[in-house]
Amino acid sequence: MNLLEVADLKKHFPIRAGLLRREVGQVRAVDGVSFHIAAGETLALVGESGCGKTTVSRCILRAQRATSGAIRFMPEDGRVVDLATIPKRELRPLRRHVQMIFQDPYASLNPRMMVGDIIAEPLKVNGVPAAERRARVLELLELVQLPASARTRFPHAFSGGQRQRIGIARALALNPRLVVADEPVSALDVSVQAQIINLLLDLQDRLRLSMLFVAHDLSVVRHVSDRVAVMYVGRMAEVAPTDALYRSPRHPYTEALLAAVPAPDPGRRGRRAPVAGEVADPARPPPGCAFHPRCPYAVDRCRVERPELREVEPGRWASCHRAQELSLAGVT
Ligand code: SF4
Repeated sequence: MNLLEVADLKKHFPIRAGLLRREVGQVRAVDGVSFHIAAGETLALVGESGCGKTTVSRCILRAQRATSGAIRFMPEDGRVVDLATIPKRELRPLRRHVQMIFQDPYASLNPRMMVGDIIAEPLKVNGVPAAERRARVLELLELVQLPASARTRFPHAFSGGQRQRIGIARALALNPRLVVADEPVSALDVSVQAQIINLLLDLQDRLRLSMLFVAHDLSVVRHVSDRVAVMYVGRMAEVAPTDALYRSPRHPYTEALLAAVPAPDPGRRGRRAPVAGEVADPARPPPGCAFHPRCPYAVDRCRVERPELREVEPGRWASCHRAQELSLAGVT
């Protein structure tokens, strides 16, 4: 059993209109998504804004209740619970096992609390005695490479990168089984992004951290993830081991996202081509393959028949009718 198994997850939001707020349609924010995370593994969940990746992570954290599907999680002792359906009362003691690193290190820390109290908060909520809390805070500050003196200072005294280290320390306080990192570097300068990625790599090594790393593009996840899952309009486009996905994508949307990754060679200027066209509206996705209006490889079949996610080679899945025949460009 994997640490986490998400099976056919759906989250649909009703669209209401008129005085009686009658339901006139649905936004299919997540529409049948499946993936797993093994213990000690980092899975990157990638896609443009509105693709449903944040909704998936909110369903795992149970900030939102799934419409249907299963989120099987193994908290400890071989027990398996379904986070999609478990009653709230039983959910409470499980929260310590799934923690979150937030996107915005400025908004996610209480400016009126000292850093030591911020990091100790989850420990306090879970009844850890004060002396143990103090020792654990010092241990966590060292883990995220901040000085012990940070404990008695307020968040405003720290840079964005340092604040994100504080957020990471807080997320790790209870030794969670799974960390959901919601775009943890997208609000930071590029130079600081690299430092936080390096810290996460170090923590993966030291703690055998299991992580769902949510990102809007493929530029930051290459070195931090073992596998990548690419979402498009509420569905999975491709899931593959990271190296294989970058080297030889099997879905045209992944190819387009890779083409938008900035060139690593500083001699080549700026960003490469952004993904052409507009993201489809999840309230009115196009028939057939939702990517077909933007896909340079679309054929007639793509406009009428929705492709299912299929294993295209051992350990690699893609939802594209032409996944076996196209030779798509990756990056080295
Ligand atoms: Fe493109 Fe067709 Fe594949 Fe969709 S199914 S990604 S439109 S080739």
